[in-house]
Amino acid sequence: MQASQRISGLTGGGSDGWDVFYRARAMVAAGEAVTELTIGEHDIRTDPSILAAMDASAVGGHTGYAMVPGITALRDAVAARVQARTGMATTRDNVLITPGGQAALFAAHHATNDEGDVALYCDPYYTTYPGTLRGVGAVPRAIMTTPEQNFEPSFTDIAKQARGARSLLVNSPNNPTGVVYSRATVEGIARACCEYDLWCVSDEVYDTQVWEGAHVSPREIEGMAARTLVVGSMSKSHAMTGSRVGWVVGPAEVIAQMINLATHTTYGVAGFVQDAALFALNAGPELEAKVGAPFQRRRELAQALIAQQNVVKLVPSGGAMYLMLDMRATGLSGEDFANRLLDTHKIAVMPGESFGAAATGHVRVAMTVEDRAFEAALGTVLDFAGGLAA
Ligand code: PLP
Repeated sequence: MQASQRISGLTGGGSDGWDVFYRARAMVAAGEAVTELTIGEHDIRTDPSILAAMDASAVGGHTGYAMVPGITALRDAVAARVQARTGMATTRDNVLITPGGQAALFAAHHATNDEGDVALYCDPYYTTYPGTLRGVGAVPRAIMTTPEQNFEPSFTDIAKQARGARSLLVNSPNNPTGVVYSRATVEGIARACCEYDLWCVSDEVYDTQVWEGAHVSPREIEGMAARTLVVGSMSKSHAMTGSRVGWVVGPAEVIAQMINLATHTTYGVAGFVQDAALFALNAGPELEAKVGAPFQRRRELAQALIAQQNVVKLVPSGGAMYLMLDMRATGLSGEDFANRLLDTHKIAVMPGESFGAAATGHVRVAMTVEDRAFEAALGTVLDFAGGLAA
């Protein structure tokens, strides 16, 4: 028996630029000491206070089916948080709790695209995007961005691809680039959505990790609340990647229909995980700052090191846990550079090409090892690049 075309075609096939990553993992499994700057996962674990809240909830009996849309207190807390951060009126009716941001992305595209509809996304992109769009039966169409424009999509870039499309997926702070979209960029996104009658799916899972500039949500731009679905998550803000808890915020009538979708797919999120998320949100911004601080520190270390040479350029980034390095002066593709770096120095970085054609000649560095090891590894990356360019 054959699986459906929808599932067998999900990944799009072909080389996806992840060979370096798999090679690094194999080297680690074989006992080699590889410095892995590849995956977007904190080097700290979930805070013990959050785990204690989870434990108390589970032991206290919150282990049965939880309410499908999310427990009321957590929906209220997410609504209050979004309202406080954006000034936009938001209630629990605007919130669906999901098993992480990825499930929220899937649900948001399910809610906005019919079979064969064109769903736009920006290149470079977070790895799951095209597959998520295909997974709901949509046809992914890339909007190419450029390093010269800091990989931010302009109104014109979007307009070129927008005719006949149904939705536009944007992500700021951005993975893989770390770029925080300017207000002008977000206004251009809003204008394109309104002019071309597009849904906007705004992936804001890094919204608490902004080191420079300010996070602007498309939902807060005039005319956008009725056509925007915001994806949020506890994974990055609270180092709760394994807990699988996130949300979609959007118009109440669409959220009501997405609750039906949740009933027929996930059937909600574990109650004790939701109680832990509620505890974590109620703990306030200090806990978020503690989780984000290592990335902010390492970004500063990186800026200082990169300023001392002139081969590798840092894409001016303002957030998240990543740096995008322009390696084009070495004459190598991102993939070739990453392979040689792994072979020569046992340091693993992600080729820009793993995130789409727009980031060719770049590599993404995840700032997810402790400060001294990070600084040493980055110093080696820069020296190696300098040697290649000479
Ligand atoms: N969106 C972006 C841009 C991400 O980088 C990630 C994870 O790396 C996700 C969504 C999914 O996060 P989660 O499902 O853990 O909330």
